[in-house]
Amino acid sequence: MDIEAPGETYDAVIVGAGFSGLYMLHKLRGMGLSARIYEAGTGVGGTWYWNRYPGARVDIESQEYSYSFSPELDEEWIWSERYATQPELLRYLNHVADRFDLRADIQLQTRVAAAHFDEGSNRWAITTNRAETITARHCIMATGCLSVMNEPAFPGADSFEGPSWHTGRWPREGVDFKGQRVAVIGTGSSAIQSIPHIAAEAAHVTIFQRTPNFSVPAHNGPIDPAVAKDWADNRAVRRAEARETGFGIRGVGQTERLAGEASADEQRAAYEERWAIGGFALLGAFADITADLSANQTAVDFVGSKIRSIVKDPVTAEKLTPRTFPIGSKRLCVDTGYYDTFNRDNVSLVDLVDEPIEAIVPTGVRTASATYEADAIVYAIGFDAMTGALGKIDIQGRGGATLRDAWAAGPRTYLGLMVAGFPNLFVVTGPGSPSVLCNMAVAIEQHVEWISDCIAWMGQRQLGTIEATDAAQDEWVAHVNEVAEPTIFPLANSWYMGANVPGKPRVFMPYIGGFPVYRDKCNEVAANGYEGFTVSSDAR
Ligand code: FAD
Ligand code: NAP
Repeated sequence: MDIEAPGETYDAVIVGAGFSGLYMLHKLRGMGLSARIYEAGTGVGGTWYWNRYPGARVDIESQEYSYSFSPELDEEWIWSERYATQPELLRYLNHVADRFDLRADIQLQTRVAAAHFDEGSNRWAITTNRAETITARHCIMATGCLSVMNEPAFPGADSFEGPSWHTGRWPREGVDFKGQRVAVIGTGSSAIQSIPHIAAEAAHVTIFQRTPNFSVPAHNGPIDPAVAKDWADNRAVRRAEARETGFGIRGVGQTERLAGEASADEQRAAYEERWAIGGFALLGAFADITADLSANQTAVDFVGSKIRSIVKDPVTAEKLTPRTFPIGSKRLCVDTGYYDTFNRDNVSLVDLVDEPIEAIVPTGVRTASATYEADAIVYAIGFDAMTGALGKIDIQGRGGATLRDAWAAGPRTYLGLMVAGFPNLFVVTGPGSPSVLCNMAVAIEQHVEWISDCIAWMGQRQLGTIEATDAAQDEWVAHVNEVAEPTIFPLANSWYMGANVPGKPRVFMPYIGGFPVYRDKCNEVAANGYEGFTVSSDAR
């Protein structure tokens, strides 16, 4: 298409003002480029702007889940808790926007509807829901892996007489559950964090569980002063250590030891020690938990025994015990009092395996066995992950080819950063990169820095376009699959696999080869003159 009468024009348009978009804008501005963010929400913060449900907090230790690019920022921001709450994280991201004076180049309440590449000018034309068309050399999608809700498609959902909310679009003013009978559908991380809070307030909570999940205690609290001091004294070293771990998290404390090398008592002792530490540490107890099913089973059995020791009613404990997928093959949940909540008199569990939901009715939720009356419904049913936000934008590359068609059988990228046929379109934490399998603060910084280095390299050589070759992309996609195939990850019906959204292709989307391996590959590609990419000169 030819762009006629374009509106504003920039070196780069960035879509999304979350963790990724904010840093991307700061980086490009620092390079002297013009850039503008378009963000659908009324504020910055992305995930931490939208997900305001009670109990929402990070599940990686606060100081690790933060930007490392500015030592001054790092020093001045003091986290109050081991796992920061959503309000604190949102304050942090707003502070970042102010501190680096980003707001002038962020346009809020603006949804990007389309992005079309114009082969005549080698520029992207970006159209918003305000009927603006902006042109830019580069289009950077910082649209988030978990920003598009899995919509409740239950028959009769519109007939419900009370209020209902998705955890990912929680009202800013909060929700008063006092005296209410609340139905919560879903038992993923969002449900597991919010249920204890809702149960503490509501008259009754009925939890509708399709698949029980593994959850480990957070042991949240104020940051241990010794940990805070160590972090303050050794910030750069600790950050570098995190970047050398497979998941970008120091707290996992990975060992070399294999589960099979330990006796049953030693296994139990290792798991107890990790359970007492809390969070993802459990998965680091043995090196083969995520690689070998029999090793994995030892961790499954341990968590099952913990559930049975906490939940007093054996029938409920049994229903809460996961048996259908390996631990870690779905994102591990990190909770505060989740299993204990089932000992409360005002909490009941409905197992949807026994009695699937048939419909939402005006007064509640009807399953195959009963109607459960409710005054309010909480949909904690997750997201159209990794590809959802890009799929909602009409993205057209060379020859008018659409990204939707290119990804019809599942996403295909080179390094999770670019897509063949879509020049100068970058994706932050795209499918095919470690992204959601990593501490995302680490994954995001690496991507933003790679993208800005790439754009700087193009500028130095006066290049007009860069794009992934089909061959490099095919090879990378094959590698992503090959690395995932022998692991436990493809064995679960997880959102990593697209299995939570009806009709979505089942493909393991993130890269499981480990953050350091991936980063080194990206660096090598760049050092070799962006191997696997083709470029064109900026003749226009
Ligand atoms: P987001 O924060 O999702 O921001 C993307 C932004 O793009 C959104 O504001 C959205 O409105 C905007 N957008 C999307 N499409 C458009 C469009 N077409 N037009 C305009 N704007 C658009 N990760 C961790 O590592 N540790 C955690 O503990 C953790 N906890 C999480 C808890 C919850 C409840 C959720 C949902 C996710 C969590 N994550 C966690 C993942 C989290 O998404 C990332 O850590 C990180 O915040 C992602 O930042 P982002 O900027 O890439 O995406
Ligand atoms: P999720 O993990 O996808 O969980 C959604 C839940 O809803 C699952 O229990 C799912 O059951 C259920 N569900 C979906 N559709 C359903 C249907 N039609 N009928 C009945 N049940 C249905 O979503 P999430 O809890 O929002 O978490 C998504 C991701 O966000 C997490 O994995 C994590 O990466 C991030 N997150 C992190 C935190 C944190 O601790 N910091 C908190 C929240 C979210 P099935 O399992 O059977 O599909």
